[in-house]
Amino acid sequence: MNILVFNAGSSSLKFSVFRAGHEDAEELFKGSYERFRDGKCEFRFRHGETDERGTASIAGIDQAVEAIPAVLERFGLTVLDAVGHRVVHGGARFSAAIVLDDAIVAEIDTLTPLAPLHNPANLGAIRLCRRLWPDVPQVAVFDTAFHATNPPFATTYAVPKEWRDAGLRRYGFHGTSHKYVAMRAAQEIGVPASDLQIVSVHLGNGASVCAVNRGKSMDSSMGMTPLEGLVMGTRSGDVDPGAFGFLGRRFGLSTQEIETALNNDSGLKGLTGSSDMRDLEDRAAKSDLDAQLAIEIFAYRARKYVGAYAAAMGGIDAVVFTGGIGENSPSMRRRICDGLEFMGLRLDHDRNQSVHLANRAAPQIQAYGSRVRVFVTETAEQLMIARETAAALTLPAPVNEEIPVAVSARHVHLSASAVETLFGPGYQLTPAKPLRQPGQWAAAERVALAGPKGRLERVAILGPVRPRTQIEVSRTDSFALGIDAPVRESGKLDGTPVVTIAGPAGNLVTDGLIIAARHIHTNPTDAARLGLEDGEYVDVRIGDADRGLTFARTLIRVGANSFTEMHIDTDEGNAAGIGVGDGEEGEILQEAATVRSHSAG
Ligand code: ADP
Repeated sequence: MNILVFNAGSSSLKFSVFRAGHEDAEELFKGSYERFRDGKCEFRFRHGETDERGTASIAGIDQAVEAIPAVLERFGLTVLDAVGHRVVHGGARFSAAIVLDDAIVAEIDTLTPLAPLHNPANLGAIRLCRRLWPDVPQVAVFDTAFHATNPPFATTYAVPKEWRDAGLRRYGFHGTSHKYVAMRAAQEIGVPASDLQIVSVHLGNGASVCAVNRGKSMDSSMGMTPLEGLVMGTRSGDVDPGAFGFLGRRFGLSTQEIETALNNDSGLKGLTGSSDMRDLEDRAAKSDLDAQLAIEIFAYRARKYVGAYAAAMGGIDAVVFTGGIGENSPSMRRRICDGLEFMGLRLDHDRNQSVHLANRAAPQIQAYGSRVRVFVTETAEQLMIARETAAALTLPAPVNEEIPVAVSARHVHLSASAVETLFGPGYQLTPAKPLRQPGQWAAAERVALAGPKGRLERVAILGPVRPRTQIEVSRTDSFALGIDAPVRESGKLDGTPVVTIAGPAGNLVTDGLIIAARHIHTNPTDAARLGLEDGEYVDVRIGDADRGLTFARTLIRVGANSFTEMHIDTDEGNAAGIGVGDGEEGEILQEAATVRSHSAG
């Protein structure tokens, strides 16, 4: 499939066309518009042997987006199957790439207060592209998504509860880059990422370090915004928040003025007047003391994070350098690695000097005998966006028509007002574990359920919030509560019984208690292949010969973003002799018998 990838910043627009599959993608075209000034900007288009540069009469990003269809047509790239968009902030809501529709765009818009400098540009491009290519599916890929696996102790700031409830927490950015380079290093080592502890060091105009613990992001140096952490081109990175009070009193600066200065006039630029590491290295070589100090601060801060993340993970197998500085500056890599011998990391200075990165190479530059490997590789954010876009649209299909079966333990879906009643005003749930259905997660928080006969403690909450609260229990649970719950399809809640949900800040008495009708989630592609239609019922055979069962009347639910999976509850799982996480598969037995393969049990 041909995928157009957009990376729209506040001052530049980068776009590429990839021919992409699930696992790989080939870049067919690469374009950019930048340096917008006086109604003009610079452009560059690369396609095969062609490399065009010049100045265009384009005043801003919106106009640049509108110019793209004609540019692509000129290069013969008229067939587009999807558009992938980089979105900087996905908040707590988006832990994976997602197919865009009006509701998702509106949800991304609600995250603008968290990323006022970044998300509006991304959203502007999304809105325009949906108008320009109304029939082409569009996907958002979030910089924050890779960090959705960070544990609460890494994401929580020690600040008043009311602030935390409003969404003030660490999210982390550059996720697409960190994920790619960590995967690339694991591939080079020849060991699954799930067996490795990797520190990824992305040093560009924006810079961050990420602890990739056994394939998952555990922590990263950027926080609620991309301002925290390392020294960057124009951003300060870590500063004492006490500076706000001092600067207000000393210079009468408003919070907005301080924020702007920390984002745009600090970092390397604040220290030397230039945000460009090449300039600084030239000046430092000519004994410019400001440039020398800036380079030392930059390296020292990065080295501290590498050490901190080795400690956070309790081990380290590899460090990966990427980004304009990480890829191109041997002296910066040396400065960062100097002094890390104590943890088994020694550079080979010759290898470090002679790094070649063409064709996605990932050379190793550690010395012979160094326990920790050191890689350099080009980051490939656009490529990853193309791959994730392809993956979001062509969801993994069940092998041999066998449907994965998941046993759902009792859980609740809460409305926003229910969250406030149970946890306090403005409270936002903490996503702790992504679920297989894209965009859905289990929250770190739990609630209790109470009925006339009994109470069920530590009941899971599944996010994101929904328009209406729904409580899903098994028949056995309904006996324990003493409430006769009906078997219902998700969302069909009228006339359902009332139950009490107990949270730390209060109780909620609400209807919505159901025993979920067993169902199969699937997407249009898989549904077409399996000959299934939304709303129909099928019989499904699950389990082995001893306790195998055929579940009659299993509802088919087709959703644009759904992962194909059958959901049954714990009573049903027990009856068929399978439990949560058993990796069981079911076989659909249709009247028409178009699908009939053996059960996996
Ligand atoms: P962005 O975060 O905007 O994508 P890049 O990843 O392109 O930024 O990184 C830009 C930084 O890389 C600049 O500070 C630039 O000076 C630096 N850089 C690029 N090439 C070199 C080089 N050969 N030596 C040192 N620094 C370099």
